[in-house]
Amino acid sequence: MITLALSKGRIFEETLPLLRAAGIEVLDDPEKSRKLILDTNQPDVRVLVVRATDVPTYVQFGGADMGITGKDTLLEHGSDWGGAGNGAGLYQPLDLQIAKCRISVAVRADFDYASAVRQGSRLKVATKYVAIAREFFANKGVHVDLIKLYGSMELAPLVGMADAIVDLVSTGNTLKANRLVEVEHIMDISSRLVVNQAALKLKREPMRKIIDAFASAVGKV
Ligand code: AMP
Repeated sequence: MITLALSKGRIFEETLPLLRAAGIEVLDDPEKSRKLILDTNQPDVRVLVVRATDVPTYVQFGGADMGITGKDTLLEHGSDWGGAGNGAGLYQPLDLQIAKCRISVAVRADFDYASAVRQGSRLKVATKYVAIAREFFANKGVHVDLIKLYGSMELAPLVGMADAIVDLVSTGNTLKANRLVEVEHIMDISSRLVVNQAALKLKREPMRKIIDAFASAVGKV
């Protein structure tokens, strides 16, 4: 049995065409089904749909043989597990080039970010991505107080809780709707396939087949 851990939401939608290209059809609709383990058209492949941030954990601890999640999530997970940015030693064979976005710094349109940085002010930064933000500002030599949030980061500067946010930006519409502007592009993000190395040794043949099928579907779906 091969167990695949997939991220709920946006990434899941974009993962389905890749799975299909690899010959795997998920039989239950995760939006409607209350089942936590979903069957596929292949009797020896099953799918777990979990929060994106839990995907690396399931793969690392062998709850799943492989998983798909964003590079942002993998970088944060790696720092939690002491593996500075390497996704805690998870084998990352493929950039799937889906759920593409960027991670950026944004501020209120009326906040003079350039002057604040130039003057060496201490910035209050709200984010879900504390490891990525800490490293980025440390490399720039900017002092920051990080405020950890779990969602709706855009709110923090609007209510005066933070000077800046570090968040994922795709179209930029959410920032625009909240009168925020992007002032730094930290890095490009896309979803990655991650693999449990021990599982790959034990189930090399069937797992290789899936990895190769994903590899040849990348950029085509
Ligand atoms: P947008 O308005 O298209 O720039 O999207 C921004 C909002 O969607 C922010 O709240 C982001 O956290 C979230 N977001 C954007 N891209 C992604 C992605 N690839 N995966 C998960 N969340 C995303």
